[in-house]
Amino acid sequence: MIENDRPVIANSLWTATANPAPDCQPLIGASHAQVAIVGGGLTGLSAALHLAEAGRDVALVEAESIGWGASGRNGGQVNPGLHLDPDEVESRFGPEFGPRIVRTSGAAPQLVFDLIDRHQIRCDARRPGWIRAAHNKSALGDLDSKIRQWAARGTTLHRLDQGEMAEISGTDTYAGGLLDPRGGNLHPLNYTLGLAHAAQRAGARLHGQSRALRLSRDGTSHILQTDKGQLRAQKVLLCTNGYTDDLAAPLKQTVVPVRSVQVATEPLPEDIRRTILPGGHAVADSRRLMLYYRVDAQGRLIMGGRGAYGDAATAHRLQSLRDVSRQMFPQLGDCRWVHAWGGFVAMTADHLPHLTRLDGGILSALGYNGRGVAMATVMGKVLADWACGTPDAALPFPVAPPRPIPFHGLRRLGVAATVAKYRALDALGL
Ligand SMILES: Cc1cc2nc3c(=O)[nH]c(=O)nc-3n(C[C@H](O)[C@H](O)[C@H](O)COP(=O)(O)OP(=O)(O)OC[C@H]3O[C@@H](n4cnc5c(N)ncnc54)[C@H](O)[C@@H]3O)c2cc1C
Repeated sequence: MIENDRPVIANSLWTATANPAPDCQPLIGASHAQVAIVGGGLTGLSAALHLAEAGRDVALVEAESIGWGASGRNGGQVNPGLHLDPDEVESRFGPEFGPRIVRTSGAAPQLVFDLIDRHQIRCDARRPGWIRAAHNKSALGDLDSKIRQWAARGTTLHRLDQGEMAEISGTDTYAGGLLDPRGGNLHPLNYTLGLAHAAQRAGARLHGQSRALRLSRDGTSHILQTDKGQLRAQKVLLCTNGYTDDLAAPLKQTVVPVRSVQVATEPLPEDIRRTILPGGHAVADSRRLMLYYRVDAQGRLIMGGRGAYGDAATAHRLQSLRDVSRQMFPQLGDCRWVHAWGGFVAMTADHLPHLTRLDGGILSALGYNGRGVAMATVMGKVLADWACGTPDAALPFPVAPPRPIPFHGLRRLGVAATVAKYRALDALGL
């Protein structure tokens, strides 16, 4: 079970099958570091690892345990690219940053699989490719456009017709699909814990149960205060994504935390297991309220989708995921559903991750819009490069001041209204 979270979303498959966590004692007393990191998920740990490998003295504080946030709860789908397609990214960001953002996001899975190899991380990593499935015929045009846009940049994605999609997924729900060979899947908590072990081996100090309560400035240093300790550093990296609190206003107003939830079966009998995603692919479909699913290394089907804020509504969404799984894969019959859990993804107004500067010495990376396994790993490295002195203009993403979302206080109402609209459009097949 995930500790210190609501029971309705705490019964995580990943926590139940986790490798041993690193020893991360709370921060006690006063200490120094060149770089302080807030948040022990993929962004913070990737930053800590890359900084320690570059010889920097780095300390990280995590409010709960390592991987407690979305990094230890997600679907483990390692997907390339961003929500926006390359043409749109380049037209928004222009000739300097546009191609860099596209290249960096397209290569993000490679960094993940390279780190896993280099640090021998045991996380059931597989790289058969990642699939986007078209839930109706009108979604096929979008897949063809993605294929054209990536081809123009030297990357071949494969179009799957209806029959190929049915064969690869095990369901005839879809009108077709796209196979992106750069993607894959893994056990997300074990990947996160593996990065933490690697960061510690490289010399990073990681502190669990150490919520940063205040951030202040003293001359050229920044001071992070926890309930039992104090950390002074020249640079601070904020890596709190969908769990961003009031530590560094107005960062919290730049993202909307939205709940995503998953359910998992028991390990399926071999004859059923062979019929669902037999090639080990992970799928995300083209519905506005996307379904994402895969089978784990022990043969459990994991189905994910949009959650809700309240417990009753969340329980209802979890049941809908079980129901839709049975519709798509009737062979599941009366298999047992053993796990149900969820967490917060961080959405941004422009659907893109942001590098946000809060002060000359404080930078944050957040807003992965539900696609952070690969991108958070990359952005942690980008933060590390910045903390090592890479100038803003040479980073792969532009650095900007905080961009608070208007009417942020009404975000829950806004999310509920958007979800209702999307559900209606999906139901109408539009
Ligand atoms: C259910 C679910 C499914 C998902 N599926 C996928 C998927 O299949 N593929 C994909 O690419 N992405 C997926 N995502 C998104 C992905 O998990 C995230 O984008 C990514 O993990 C973000 O990593 P992070 O390190 O930035 O943030 P997190 O992992 O959320 O870590 C932030 C951490 O900051 C800590 N923190 C916050 N405030 C403080 C403070 N004041 N002091 C100390 N610590 C603090 C929190 O405790 C938390 O542990 C999913 C997310 C969820 C919730």
